[in-house]
Amino acid sequence: MSSKKAKYVFITGGVVSSLGKGIASASLGLLLKKQGLTVSVLKMDPYLNVDPGTLSPFQHGEVFVTEDGAETDLDLGHYERFLDISLSKLNNTTTGQIYYKVIEKEREGAYLGKTVQVIPHVTNEIKQRIRDVESDQGGVDVVLVELGGTVGDIEGLPFLEAIRQFKLEMGRENCINIHLTLVPFIKASGEMKTKPTQHSVMKLREIGIQPDILICRTETQLSMEARQKIGLFCNVPHEMVIEGRDVSSIYSVPLAFEEEQLAEKVMKLMQLPYSRAHMKEWRGFVDRLLNPPEEITIGIAGKYVDLRDAYKSIIESFVLAGEANGVNVNLRWVESERIEDEGAEKHLEHVSALLIPGGFGERGIEGKIDAVTYAREHDMPFFGICLGLQCAVIEFARSVCGLKKANSREFEEVPVDPIIDYIPEQWQITRKGGTMRLGAYPCVIKKGSRAYECYGSERISERHRHRYEVNNDYRDILEEHGMVLSGLSPEGDLVEIVELPEKRWFLAGQFHPEFKSRALKPHPLFSSFVRAAYEYQKEKSGKK
Ligand code: GLN
Repeated sequence: MSSKKAKYVFITGGVVSSLGKGIASASLGLLLKKQGLTVSVLKMDPYLNVDPGTLSPFQHGEVFVTEDGAETDLDLGHYERFLDISLSKLNNTTTGQIYYKVIEKEREGAYLGKTVQVIPHVTNEIKQRIRDVESDQGGVDVVLVELGGTVGDIEGLPFLEAIRQFKLEMGRENCINIHLTLVPFIKASGEMKTKPTQHSVMKLREIGIQPDILICRTETQLSMEARQKIGLFCNVPHEMVIEGRDVSSIYSVPLAFEEEQLAEKVMKLMQLPYSRAHMKEWRGFVDRLLNPPEEITIGIAGKYVDLRDAYKSIIESFVLAGEANGVNVNLRWVESERIEDEGAEKHLEHVSALLIPGGFGERGIEGKIDAVTYAREHDMPFFGICLGLQCAVIEFARSVCGLKKANSREFEEVPVDPIIDYIPEQWQITRKGGTMRLGAYPCVIKKGSRAYECYGSERISERHRHRYEVNNDYRDILEEHGMVLSGLSPEGDLVEIVELPEKRWFLAGQFHPEFKSRALKPHPLFSSFVRAAYEYQKEKSGKK
């Protein structure tokens, strides 16, 4: 179905952060997609950074890279995985981007002598960004707009004001507001507390936004009494107060929302016809995911292991690849600096495979290289992603090719053997924001390689985010010693995939495959790696 004018669903959050607005938005998006609507999503982040690209993973979590090379919020990963759509730089904006644009226009003289103000100039720019999402995709039916942060934050105010104006301009039936809140259960009194929700909605209404639907995050069942009370105090009919109970998997959320008839209510508010959706396939997927017959443990040697959000797409890629293979993938996180101190064996002895994810900077590098040595020497399945490829190449150069001093220019200013070096155009770049090799690039795969077996195609496309690459001067020595450069850029000038065919599963990519995993469509490399890990585990435990 394609209507001329898109409908807009604004999703805000209150009481506390981390309520799962991203998952809620992605889940609602999926339910609307099942209604036959085309859906797009915009995440608005009220911080001043232009994008999260320059933020530390400790601050922000993963930077999700889109096809067109935008460095975006990790919620875009949830949207892509749930909705099976590819988003772009238009699907994430920040206060930084909005002000950048406004100031640029001011310098151009575009405001014709006017005083430039938050209202209307900043709010106009925000509204324009909201409209751009609809026009970009050649006419989507629904745009979900998720506002980061919590209602009441000073920095979110211009966005809320823009939402208020937008609704006024577009009409009630074209814009609906969903507010996510927390309803805590106080054990001592045995009661659910609705007051925080009341206060958070009060804050929204002060700004002039009346929510149409409240999704109440709770640990236990949201009683009718609580729904009525919240409805009365928040000026919302009680049937529009939805329970958002904790569930064991984020992929269960669409099913929980369906039970609460969320899609039906949203469709009614948007004055669109509702028909009962077929959730059979999704239900089957969730059932398999929650009840896997087998279990494996994969080791991940990284630097940000205390903050799982830093590896969000990798974690989800394993969940999805696990489902497809009928195994639950436990991840064992290993701080790579600990490998340096304690040795790889202690941490990797009991895992069935090793993954080295992407990363930046020198800290922990030698531990990662030691981990690769362990995996290679024990013929344990190994998968390297971006920095993981660079570590695998350094390790191979040092241990197998005899280049004891091989290193990356990222970790040593003048390495004796700079086997990982700047991509040529990176030499001149000094500004940090948005200047890496970013986004989707094609890659040509060698027939007969492991990569070819996984992808089943000679031409693929994957997303990148890096400054360094394999130094072409060292290709011959790597190949002479048995490393296969199984994926190259179409011009042949960049190494994209390396593998060791002598090993049971040893492959690394200069790109980030984790950004292309989708629910019910796991990434072929993750899927094959999980299968290899399972086979290896069976062999190790002599179960074969
Ligand atoms: N730091 C490395 C580079 O810039 C790897 C980046 C990554 O793993 N995303 O090339």
